[in-house]
Amino acid sequence: MPTETFEFQVEARQLLQLMIHSVYSNKDVFLRELVSNASDALDKLRLEKLRDDALDADVSDLHIEIDVDKEARTLTVRDNGIGMSYDEVGKLIGTIANSGTATFLQDLKEAKDAAGAEGLIGQFGVGFYSGFMAADEVTLVTRRAGESQGTRWTSRGEATYTLETVADAPQGTSVTLHLKPADPENQLHDYTSPWKIREIVKRYSDFITWPIRMVPEAAAPSDGDAEGDGDTAPEPETLNSMKALRARSRDEVSDDEYHELYKHISHDWREPLETIRLQAEGTFEYQALLFVPSHAPQDLFARDFKRGVQLYVKRVFIMDDCEALLPPYLRFVKGVVDAADLSLNVSREILQQDRHIRMMQRRLTKKVLSTVKEFMTKDSDRYATFWREFGTVVKEGLLTDTENRDAILAASSFATTHADDEPTTLAQYVERMKDGQDDIYYITGESRQSIENSPHMEAFRDKGIEVLLLTDPVDEVWVDAVGEYRGKGLRSVTKGEIDLAADGDEKAGEEREKQAEDYAGLLGWMREQLDEDIKEVRLSARLTVSAACVVSDSHDLTPALENMYRAMGQ
Ligand code: ADP
Ligand code: MG
Repeated sequence: MPTETFEFQVEARQLLQLMIHSVYSNKDVFLRELVSNASDALDKLRLEKLRDDALDADVSDLHIEIDVDKEARTLTVRDNGIGMSYDEVGKLIGTIANSGTATFLQDLKEAKDAAGAEGLIGQFGVGFYSGFMAADEVTLVTRRAGESQGTRWTSRGEATYTLETVADAPQGTSVTLHLKPADPENQLHDYTSPWKIREIVKRYSDFITWPIRMVPEAAAPSDGDAEGDGDTAPEPETLNSMKALRARSRDEVSDDEYHELYKHISHDWREPLETIRLQAEGTFEYQALLFVPSHAPQDLFARDFKRGVQLYVKRVFIMDDCEALLPPYLRFVKGVVDAADLSLNVSREILQQDRHIRMMQRRLTKKVLSTVKEFMTKDSDRYATFWREFGTVVKEGLLTDTENRDAILAASSFATTHADDEPTTLAQYVERMKDGQDDIYYITGESRQSIENSPHMEAFRDKGIEVLLLTDPVDEVWVDAVGEYRGKGLRSVTKGEIDLAADGDEKAGEEREKQAEDYAGLLGWMREQLDEDIKEVRLSARLTVSAACVVSDSHDLTPALENMYRAMGQ
């Protein structure tokens, strides 16, 4: 097949431009990205071979190799992993599938200065393309395990890339960076220096469980007396310790090392909010290393959001996104779980049924929830960040996880009329309840502003009764499902008859009876006029300023839910 030229997808082109004219000062991370991809490729191949013994692939010495050629100014990262087919190269390298990228690019355009742009790049992984921070041309040669023909991809990072088939490519992938001209002013970015490579690998990729080897450049041939000993091929040097962090004791591992592992498995470039370690001994042994991200991913609510943590069995990678290990409402948690006694051939379907996996799920879930509770009591800033990013998702658990409902409620907080910018827990609300108040009052709606000004709120404001202001769609649903908290009912201020008089003085009750007689004629007339649209007209104690408001029955849907169901065609 002749060499073919293709155009990058628009978003891909924009990203590439960004990398080439990069303002990002930490260029070293390109090596982390290439090593990370190589490591993934080795994981995938080992697994595929495990599942399909007939696969024609050599898995005897899986490793990553870094070669530097000072003379040619090239740096090559090579793996003998799964590789890519011709079509896969075009699809995986020529386009950007990540839906968050479009938003990222938009934000970037709006970033006014270089510092702003740098901050943004630091937040979003750009994976393979980061090579263009250091190179003005990148060549990738790959052959998918089990296939006979290889593919060469080349690009200068401009509008196009070329693809051609090659006959003699080794199994796996090699990525060669043709490094930008040396900057004599800045020796820091000399990526042809073995010292530099060693340092970067140690810093960012030490925990990678495959050997990362570097072959020193062959020493210049000396005056011919080397003949005879025949042993001149330099020994490759392994740069990483290959120790899985989850297997090392806590005080042996620095926060930075944990963070680099997080970045590798999550493809997030930002630091996580928290690292959680768990060791289970006994009949079913496992080690877990979980990370709570510091930011919700863009696609957290997308139907195809990839959730779950990586599953290993006795150090062997089994799957990404193992959804059986955590419930859906903790789908943002990343991490690694390594179990001792599971079949290597375990499938997703089997996992959902497995008794041990269920046990693990229960334990991991409780651990995450107790960690959040700990944020709440020990580090309110961290709690605030967590709740802002993930509160909406966590509240889904109030509907689905009755076993942990109390723990979820205890870790939840809500906007309230009690304070403008400080949320409250239900426990705090109950503590502040007035004498004789039996219920926890809430109102739901789209925004704090719109519900705070609702006529339903008038009497509560007047009487100084606190109302929770719930603005997430899920709030509509969980309040009904949960119903009460420590014997106090959860009551919407917009539903049914609310007798605030009972909370206050008795005289008001008598007064209302008299009013009802006085207004009987008017109410009757209104009932007749509005017969088609409403069930009943009644005098209300809930208004102080507005003349009238529409109220639904206690068991009716709220307007927002009604809209939601209507939109869903029900
Ligand atoms: P990400 O790693 O976040 O998916 P990248 O831009 O780093 O994004 O890589 C894009 C895709 O290209 C990877 O998901 C993988 O499918 C493929 N890929 C990249 N490098 C390799 C490699 N060394 N071997 C096999 N596939 C690779
Ligand atoms: Mg990657």
